[in-house]
Amino acid sequence: MAGEPQADCLFCKIVAGEVPATLVRETETTVAFRDINPQAPTHVLVIPRVHHRDAATLAAAEPQIAADMLRETAEVAAGEKLDSYRVVFNTGSGAGQTVFHAHAHVLGGRGLQWPPG
Ligand code: IMP
Repeated sequence: MAGEPQADCLFCKIVAGEVPATLVRETETTVAFRDINPQAPTHVLVIPRVHHRDAATLAAAEPQIAADMLRETAEVAAGEKLDSYRVVFNTGSGAGQTVFHAHAHVLGGRGLQWPPG
C-alpha cells in the first residue's frame, strides 16, 4: 500500500535503521543522509519516512510531507553552508532514477553546469 514500508526498498531500510547511513538531519517526517556515491563535495539525499515511488507520487498523495522534504533541502544546504546548490528529483528510470523511494538530491560545494546531462 502506498506510504507503507516496502520490504524490498533500500531507503525504507535506511529509515528503519536496518541499513547504515551517514545521517545529516532527521525530522518527524524526513531523513537526510550522505549519498554513498557523491557527485559533488556535498551530496545529501532527503527522503520521506513514508514510502512513495517518486516525488510526484509523494506530492500527489501527501503534499505536506513533500513540502517538509523541500524545506529540509534548504535546511541541509544551510547546515552545509552552501551559498549555491542544486536540488534534483530524478523521476523515472529515463531521468536516472535508480531507487524507487522518493528522494531529493542536494548537491553543492563545486560549480554546477547547466543544462545537466
Ligand atoms: P537516483 O539515481 O536519483 O534514484 O538516486 C539514488 C541515489 O542513491 C544514488 O545517488 C546512489 O548513489 C544513492 N545510494 C544508493 N544506495 C545508497 C546507500 O546505501 N546509502 C546512500 N546512498 C545510496
